[in-house]
Amino acid sequence: MKVLVVGNGGREHALAWKLLQSRQIEQVTCVPGNGGTASMSQCQNLPLGIDDFEGISQFAQKEKISLVVVGPEVPLAMGISDYLNSRGFKVFGPTRAGAQIEASKAWAKAFMQEVGIPTAHAAVFTQASAAKSYVKDHVAPIVVKADGLAAGKGVTVAQTVDQAIEAIEAIFRGQFGNAGKFVVIEECLIGQEVSVLALTDGLTIRSLLPAQDHKRIGEGDTGENTGGMGAYAPAPIATPELMARVQKEVLEKAIAAFRAKNIDYRGVLYAGLMITPDGDFKVLEFNCRFGDPETQVILPLLETPLEELMLACIEQRLAQMPPIAWKQGAAATVVAAALGYPGTYEKGKAITGIAEAQAAGAIVFHAGTNLQDGQLLTDGGRVLNVTGTGENFEQALAQAYAGMRCINFEGMYYRRDIGHRLKG
Ligand code: AMP
Repeated sequence: MKVLVVGNGGREHALAWKLLQSRQIEQVTCVPGNGGTASMSQCQNLPLGIDDFEGISQFAQKEKISLVVVGPEVPLAMGISDYLNSRGFKVFGPTRAGAQIEASKAWAKAFMQEVGIPTAHAAVFTQASAAKSYVKDHVAPIVVKADGLAAGKGVTVAQTVDQAIEAIEAIFRGQFGNAGKFVVIEECLIGQEVSVLALTDGLTIRSLLPAQDHKRIGEGDTGENTGGMGAYAPAPIATPELMARVQKEVLEKAIAAFRAKNIDYRGVLYAGLMITPDGDFKVLEFNCRFGDPETQVILPLLETPLEELMLACIEQRLAQMPPIAWKQGAAATVVAAALGYPGTYEKGKAITGIAEAQAAGAIVFHAGTNLQDGQLLTDGGRVLNVTGTGENFEQALAQAYAGMRCINFEGMYYRRDIGHRLKG
């Protein structure tokens, strides 16, 4: 089989890496890929934009691609699956209609309220003045969200009403372009976040191992929000009892609701949950794709060949698949970021020590890297994800950090406390 993976982050490197472990797969092409996917054998990069549906389709036709896996949310929200499905390709990832669950927070909120999926109380506004008077009538902290896709930057957890008002003004000033036509204002939930990613063929839905991310740039979960600075799985806070409730009260309800709306949802449905201090939970958000960096800890533990699961979703025969098989133990990943991230940062710094990190047992997934004339250079804010595995979290984290210590580039920053909640 030949597979095409759309995207260029650590998630896509992990997807390509996992797919290539299967004997069924002879080649993976990443569009556009990164320095890591360029360095793997049986893997190549194709320098096309993730929105170049026509170019992707022509390549898939010429190369007889059997499976297209879409990593990021942006092409899904633009309708890449609709485009390629209609041309006869097998695509893992929901249609544009399904991707609304992530692409519009107002749509997702209405969906959850309609179906009775537990979520934070919220109100949606199309005008700054109404939004501002709403927050003035409520107490801080309060959460202000731009409706659309904003690369993870559209959410402000405002500690004061003034901060909330500033966030509302920024959204309606057009800081996030079209993503800010609506604003969602919601109750601030307190607790621990956990990511439950699930695979679905639109009829059956099966969760993967729960994972926990570390969103903030600083140690002790301080400072600005980022795309994620590290993760581990399986997250102990998501007990089997909680996962059983999430299956019934969130995942199955969501799939039934998609069906009722005639939305044929096949791919990943990712529920971002807040576990409140009383052990209950609420859904913070849904995503329509694999999480990044959660994928970089979930896939190293997956035993079932990934393409078998993906094809079962596409061909609507997930119910006939045996239970998903997992390796025993744990995985942890630590993100190496560029100086200045999540603000402005420089690119083009030479990266050393990857082979040494691998020799220490770590799996190095590339995120923002680029291979130029044989030299690996930084090419993004989140540069590398160094993943360790082991019988337990202590071993997995020790392996990830041993790998990280081998790696160097100018201005490299990583959190030293990934997994700190596991010790509590
Ligand atoms: P979202 O894209 O909606 O998941 O929001 C991004 C991040 O903002 C989440 O991962 C949380 O850390 C935070 N967040 C979102 N909604 C809330 C909420 N209602 N209460 C507290 N934190 C939130």
